[in-house]
Amino acid sequence: MVKAIVVRKTGGPEVMSFEEIEVGEPGPGEVRLRHTAIGVNFIDTYYRKGLYPAPAGLPFVPGAEAVGIVDKAGEGVVQFRPGDRVAYAGSVGAYAEARVIDSRKLVRIPDDIDGYTVAASLLKGMTVQYLLRQTFKVTRDHTVLFHAGAGGVGQIAGQWLKSLGATSIATVGSDEKAEIARACGYTHVINYRKEDFVARVDEITGGAKCDVVYDSVGKDTFPASLDCLKPRGLFVSFGNSSGPVAEFNLGILSQKGSLYATRPTLAHYTATRADLDACAEDLFEQIRTGAVTINVGQKFPLAEAVACHKAMEARETVGSTLLTV
Ligand code: NDP
Repeated sequence: MVKAIVVRKTGGPEVMSFEEIEVGEPGPGEVRLRHTAIGVNFIDTYYRKGLYPAPAGLPFVPGAEAVGIVDKAGEGVVQFRPGDRVAYAGSVGAYAEARVIDSRKLVRIPDDIDGYTVAASLLKGMTVQYLLRQTFKVTRDHTVLFHAGAGGVGQIAGQWLKSLGATSIATVGSDEKAEIARACGYTHVINYRKEDFVARVDEITGGAKCDVVYDSVGKDTFPASLDCLKPRGLFVSFGNSSGPVAEFNLGILSQKGSLYATRPTLAHYTATRADLDACAEDLFEQIRTGAVTINVGQKFPLAEAVACHKAMEARETVGSTLLTV
């Protein structure tokens, strides 16, 4: 038996209870992992609330990211052995001391990178990797708007955009967060509680606007984000922190300048072993060279997952958040 957070019905943070659960034996292609740190992501709140359905229904153990040590490998697993340090991002069931997982989800943690750093960055950092390198290939010639610049994904994005030489504009919800976003390398930072971000983007860019907008806020920033784009610019909607974007008429893309729009998710960019390893390795290389530093803004014991989600949804967290085991 191991300690875990269990969701029996979807709802607010208080639906999460701290319980003892059975982990069981790994089946063919699976491994059993003993977690050493668990990464917390805003997406965990979507599953808890029922905005995204839990893959195996209720009850479920929330959380999508962790690092750990392989405890036992199931039949047919050749890539991982007991004792290996591994990590995963995007497989629900992480808020537990141990779990069984499909070995295809795992990446090996390089010897020169510590486990906490990986737990705090694999999901968020691979997201930044595909957003900046694949969904749109950002270069020094581009101007980019990135919402929630002081958040977990946002802090990594600011540093990575700087290393690419792009002109980057972040939005944030407080002056403290504005300082943090500036320190992460954003060229310009807008506190959207004090200033209208569309007007400020227009001013900052001298009316030229942005090549791409990365929007994880969703409901509250749509359709205003579209007004920050150049004609034929790309709108990347990759999250719902304020709620999902409401239904809209596709015609709005033509009215606002023959825009492109995409709604990507990490799973589709890391679906094959080759894609997963390449995406993770690019992130590890950014960490190794110091281009990206991972900031763990706060840690909570696993038993305090409720307080952790409350803080995240109240916008009190900065950088990455970990649950410790
Ligand atoms: P963050 O640390 O960025 O936390 C969310 C932030 O969003 C808040 O701190 C807050 O920053 C901002 N925000 C704006 N409106 C609201 C609101 N109504 N309620 C709460 N927060 C709000 O989280 P993560 O780094 O974990 O994730 C960032 C986003 O990226 C999430 O939307 C997540 O779902 C998405 N994501 C998408 C992936 C994909 O592949 N599609 C993968 C990974 C993450 P502020 O106070 O500055 O406004």
